[in-house]
Amino acid sequence: VIITIISIIKVNTVSAQQKLHPETEKKIDVLMSKMTLEEKVGQMNQYNGFWDVTGPAPVGGSAEEKYENIKKGLVGSMLTVRGVKEVKAVQKIAVEQTRLGIPLIIGFDVIHGYKTLSPIPLAEAASWDLQTIEKSAEVAASEAAASGINWTFGPMMDISRDARWGRVMEGAGEDPFLGGKIAAARVKGFQGDNTFRSPLRIAATAKHFAAYGFVEAGLEYNAVEIGNNTLFNQVLPPFKSAVDAGIRSVMNSFNTINGIPATADRYLLRDVLKNKWGFSGFVVSDWASIREMISWGFSKDEKAAAKSAVEAGTDMDMESGIYFPYLIDLVKQGKVKESYIDDAVRRILRVKFELGLFDDPYRFLDEKREKETIGSTANHEAVLDMAKKSIVLLKNEKNLLPLKKSGQKILLLGSLAESKNSPLGSWRIAADNNTAVSVLEGMKAYKGNQLNFVEGPKLTTSEPTFLTEVNYNTTDRKGLEEAKNAAKNADVIVMVLGEQGFSSGEARSRTNIDLPGLQEEFLKEIFKVNPNIVLVLNNGRPLTINWASENIPAIVEAWHLGTQAGNAVSQVLYGDYNPSGKLPMTFPRNVGQIPVYYNHLNTGRPFDKDKNVFWSHYSDVEKTPLYPFGFGLSYTKFEYSDLKINKKLFSKGENIQVTFILKNTGKYDGKEVAQLYIQDEFASVARPVKELKGFQIIELKSGESKKITFNLTEKELGFYDNSGNFIVEEGAFKVMIGGNSESVISDEFSLE
Ligand code: BGC
Repeated sequence: VIITIISIIKVNTVSAQQKLHPETEKKIDVLMSKMTLEEKVGQMNQYNGFWDVTGPAPVGGSAEEKYENIKKGLVGSMLTVRGVKEVKAVQKIAVEQTRLGIPLIIGFDVIHGYKTLSPIPLAEAASWDLQTIEKSAEVAASEAAASGINWTFGPMMDISRDARWGRVMEGAGEDPFLGGKIAAARVKGFQGDNTFRSPLRIAATAKHFAAYGFVEAGLEYNAVEIGNNTLFNQVLPPFKSAVDAGIRSVMNSFNTINGIPATADRYLLRDVLKNKWGFSGFVVSDWASIREMISWGFSKDEKAAAKSAVEAGTDMDMESGIYFPYLIDLVKQGKVKESYIDDAVRRILRVKFELGLFDDPYRFLDEKREKETIGSTANHEAVLDMAKKSIVLLKNEKNLLPLKKSGQKILLLGSLAESKNSPLGSWRIAADNNTAVSVLEGMKAYKGNQLNFVEGPKLTTSEPTFLTEVNYNTTDRKGLEEAKNAAKNADVIVMVLGEQGFSSGEARSRTNIDLPGLQEEFLKEIFKVNPNIVLVLNNGRPLTINWASENIPAIVEAWHLGTQAGNAVSQVLYGDYNPSGKLPMTFPRNVGQIPVYYNHLNTGRPFDKDKNVFWSHYSDVEKTPLYPFGFGLSYTKFEYSDLKINKKLFSKGENIQVTFILKNTGKYDGKEVAQLYIQDEFASVARPVKELKGFQIIELKSGESKKITFNLTEKELGFYDNSGNFIVEEGAFKVMIGGNSESVISDEFSLE
C-alpha cells in the first residue's frame, strides 16, 4: 500500500565512469596485437616472491623455475618481492629478457605502512580525520614505492559488525558512510591525483569484494548469506566510493555470497563493478581463491574454476596457478571466449601504462631514494600524529587523567607496556620486529614523575608471529605478587592490557573477545590493592570489557598504534594531546549480542516510553552496547544545543541546512567530532533507526562556542532499494546531532 502513496525519485547513480585515455588505449591495441595467447594469459598470472612462505605450496615452483617462466613472458605480476635490489632483479628479466619486454607489476600488502607503521586501519578510522588518514596512506605509499613496489593490496573496506572476525582490524569499522569517506581518503593517499607522475604513489586495491566482513559467526573464510538491503546499503558503498576516487584494482573475497564464490560472482564483478560503476582497472583474485572454488563445491576441477572466474570478471590469478595454463587450453578448445582474456589483459596493461612502467620500468627502483624515504623523520612525525588522533578515551573518572607531570608515583604494569613488537599490530610484513616505541619508553620521556615498571603475569606462552597462532594459555603468575606489592605504594597505576598484535588480522577469529589469558584476573587483583587504575587497551577489535568498564575509573583505547605507539599513548596520558577519537565500531557487552551495531532496523516492538521498557530485549543482559558507535570522550566537555533546520518542508533537489551550537564547557581546549545522523521514518524498504550522514572535526578553546552547519542533499537522503536502484522517497526525516550515535539532540523535516 505504502508503495502506491509514496512517490519515489529515482536518482541516476551510474558512476562518472572511470576515464580512459585514448592514447593509452591505442598503445594497448598495438601491444596486444603482437601478443600470443600464451603471453596474454601470462599477464594474468601472478607469482609470489616470498620464497619462504609456509602453508599451501607456493605456485610456480622454485625461484629458478619462476625466473624461467618470467623469461618466457608467462608472468604478469609478482607479489611480496622486497626492496629495490630484489625488484630490480625480477623486473630486469621481464623487461630485458622477454620477447615483448612487458614490465611486471609488483604488488605488496602495504596495509598500515611499509616500514614506518601507522596505527592499524581500524584505529586510524577512530580519528575520523580524513586528511590525516590520507597523509598516512601517502607515507605508506612513499616508503613502499621507494622500495620498488607499484601496487598495494589495500585499503580493505569490508564493513563488519562482528568483532569475532579478526580482520576488523584492517577495515574502517561498521559504518558505510564513514567507511566510504575513509576509503576515498586512502585511495587518494596511495594514488595521489591518479596520474602517477610521482614515483612515490602506487596503485591501490579495494578489497575484499564483497561482503567478506559478513562471514557467518565471524569465522574466517566462512560462507556469507546476505540480503540485498544490507549488500547494497552497507557493503557496497565504500567500494563505490573507491571506484569514484579512481582506484586501479579490486580484489575479490574468499567467501561465497548466497552460495556463489565472490571470485565467480559475475553479477558483482561484471554487472555492478565493471559495467554499472565503470571501473576500468583490473580485478585480482585473493590468494588461491580461484582454486578454493573447488573446495567450496562450486567448480568440479581446476579447468572449471578457471572458466568460472575469468568469465565472471576476475582478471588476475593470485596463487592458484590455474589461469596459466588452463585458460590457454580453454580458449583453444573454444570453451572460453578469447574476448574475456583480452578484456582482462587490457585492464592489466592499462594500469601498467598508467603507472609509467612502460616509459621507465626502473622509475620505482632508485636505491638512493629508498634509503632517504624509508624511516625519514617526516614519516615518523606523520605516523605519530596519526597515532595520537586514533586514541579513544572511553572513561575518565576520579580525575585520573591527564596524569600530573610531576610529584606522582606511577606504576606501569603489563607485558604489553614494554613490548616493542605488539604495538606494530598485524599485517606489517615489511617492517622489522621490535621497532615500535613501547609505552614504557614513551613514559620514560616524562621525567617529572617517579616511574616504576613491573611486568606482572605472562601474557603469552611464546612470542607470536604473523604465521603462528597467539597462545594465551599461560599459567605463569610469577609476576603477580611483585605487581601487587608495587601497587600498594603507587599514586596512579597504568595497566596496559589487551590483545597481542597478532591476535587480530587474517585467520584470527575469536569466540571470546574479552581480555585474554590471565589479564582480567591480573586487573581484578591489582584493583583490590589499589583502584586508581588507568587501563590502556591494546587491541585490534572491540573487546567485551564489562567488568573493567564498571569498575576501572579510566580507560584509554589505544589499539595497535604502530611505530610511534608509546609516544602517542604517553602524550595522551600526560595531556599533551587531548584525545579526540571516536569508536568506528560498537563495543558489545558480550559475544551473544553480536551482531550489535548502531544502524540497525527497528523492531515491531521498539522502546516503550510509557512503560520504560524494550519489549524486544534479552533477559540476561542489557540490549544496548557497552560503548556505542561514535563514542569517545575528551579531557574537556562539549555541549550541543540550538539545533535548527532552515525549513520544515523541502522539495526535491533543495539543499537542507542543519545548524547547531557546539560549546566547549570544560577546562581544556579540545577537538570534537560532531556527528549528524538521519532517519528516514517511513520508506518502501524499512530504514535504519539512525544513519551517519555527516561529521566534522571542530576545535574549540575552553569556553568557546561556535555555530556549526551541515548540508544535506538527496545523496544523503536516499538509499538503495532491493534491486540496487538508488532512490529518494518523500516523507518525514529525523535529523540527529551529537558526539556519539546514542546521545543526540534531534529535529525533523519533510521532503515532498
Ligand atoms: C589476504 C589478502 C592479501 C593476500 C596477499 C590473502 O590471504 O586475504 O588480503 O592481500 O593474502 O597477501
